[in-house]
Amino acid sequence: MRLGILHESTPGETRVALLPESLKTLLAQGISIVVESGAGISAGASDQAYAEAGATVTTDRDSILSGADLIPMVNAPNPADQARLKPGAVVIGFLKPLESPQTLANAIARPATLFSMELVPRISRAQSMDALSSMATIAGYKAVISAADRLPRLFPMLMTAAGTIPPARVFVIGAGVAGLQAIATARRLGAVVEAYDVRAAAGEQVRSLGAKFLDVDLGGISTEGGGGYAAELTEEALDRGRDLITRTAAHSDVIITTAQVPGRPAPRLIRSAAIEAMRPGSVLVDLAAPAGGNCELTQPGITQTINGVTLLAPLNLPAEVPVHASQLYARNILNFLALIVKKGELVVDLADEVLAGACVSHEGKPVNPRVAKLLQSATIST
Ligand code: NAD
Repeated sequence: MRLGILHESTPGETRVALLPESLKTLLAQGISIVVESGAGISAGASDQAYAEAGATVTTDRDSILSGADLIPMVNAPNPADQARLKPGAVVIGFLKPLESPQTLANAIARPATLFSMELVPRISRAQSMDALSSMATIAGYKAVISAADRLPRLFPMLMTAAGTIPPARVFVIGAGVAGLQAIATARRLGAVVEAYDVRAAAGEQVRSLGAKFLDVDLGGISTEGGGGYAAELTEEALDRGRDLITRTAAHSDVIITTAQVPGRPAPRLIRSAAIEAMRPGSVLVDLAAPAGGNCELTQPGITQTINGVTLLAPLNLPAEVPVHASQLYARNILNFLALIVKKGELVVDLADEVLAGACVSHEGKPVNPRVAKLLQSATIST
């Protein structure tokens, strides 16, 4: 069996799916590994390091695409690459099947077997493959560092002979994986932190990190969807959160917002009035920007200054920490591969709930029911 590692073609991507240190167990199973030259360079892995680990390095991208049986990636292959895949090849990555399933049409038609890391079920057995959590951890950390870098103030309280500097006040919206890491990072830098989430279960985790949890009475409605995620709320319930956010923004130096509902546009929680209420120099980092953003003024991928407030809307923060992002992602990928590679051969058993959940398509047909429904409605509307 041949495994291919490609240089990611998505603009701005710096991560790589597998690092040289990831190859040992695969090579030991007799798998041949071909790496596109330069694939790991931004993540600190040279061609030489891959070669020394036992892989073959080539500049011939086409030969990898047409010859590999297994291609772990970070992002989905572009449509031209998809059309060159070896029929029956298995491709794994963040394929965005719920956001843009139709962009995978060429790969589905080859037919390739597609597994999406976003769809790996969040059950205990699959925790070691939870790449969403790995990347959210990095994004939460980096969001605080980016905000601290832009803020014209210090984070920690300082008592000096020249006077006392109060600590920065940080408000984190959405206390999931990224939000909790943002809270922990801001606390480590000495900030006073408040946080809000619709899931009551998040309160205990927020408090255990030394932050204050802001409760909102949402009228007793259910806020939990499946798999530990939030449910999509009514406009009325969202409004109660928006009011709290506007009030809290007025005394916050930094807002890190992470609220998401899987497969849906990010909830619009931050009104422009909240930005107007912030002091000039304050910073808002909208980590929900890839899903449209939590702030109504967010323009995904664009940094704005509004009334002196900096609004950052990064689309790929993990790519700004490529070494550790690739290290964590590669481990998630290796753990996933252990489910489909047995003694050096591909064995795709869709009776396994992790594989069935993560599978976008197999033998030309959609597998995950949510993706199947989306693809069907895309076909009907065209
Ligand atoms: P996410 O990225 O989908 O959302 C981020 C946060 O935004 C969540 O905490 C969500 O509750 C919150 N949110 C959504 N709508 C909101 C709104 N209107 N107002 C305020 N907050 C809102 O979620 P995530 O961070 O990937 O995961 C969320 C939770 O899932 C985790 O905290 C954890 O409990 C659970 N989880 C379980 C596993 C596992 O069992 N393997 C792994 C990871 C996460």
